[in-house]
Amino acid sequence: MSPNEISDYVTEGMKWLSIGGGTYIASLTILNGVPRLFSERINSQEDLDRIVDEEANKLSMTKSITPKFHDFWIESSIKLDGGNYEINIGGFGARRSAVRHELYHIHRGHLEHPWKKSNGFLRALNYIFREEPQAIVYEVFRLKL
Ligand SMILES: [Zn+2]
Repeated sequence: MSPNEISDYVTEGMKWLSIGGGTYIASLTILNGVPRLFSERINSQEDLDRIVDEEANKLSMTKSITPKFHDFWIESSIKLDGGNYEINIGGFGARRSAVRHELYHIHRGHLEHPWKKSNGFLRALNYIFREEPQAIVYEVFRLKL
């Protein structure tokens, strides 16, 4: 096999990998996007405080979590210094299911593994193929994987 042929195989492989990866991400997005439309809407900080409380109770969570409501689109969970957590929710995706998703990331320990430069690629794979599907499956089906 000439180097050119090998490079053709690699290029072809990368192409199929990216098509597969793109399809996979699209499926995940649809899986958690559709039920979100039917989930309870969050319109204020008071709504968010109540829903975070209710959903954290369902997971029997004892961690200290500060919910922050925003008027722009954001969905994130952050680990703060001192072992506290923060959930940011706002805009289009401000729904109970988004809270469930972010809480599950915290509950399952996903925020305990920081993104380090040295293992960025493995960390990305771990996030895409393990942590994100786990959070989505809990968000949609309440199954704890
Ligand atoms: Zn997520």
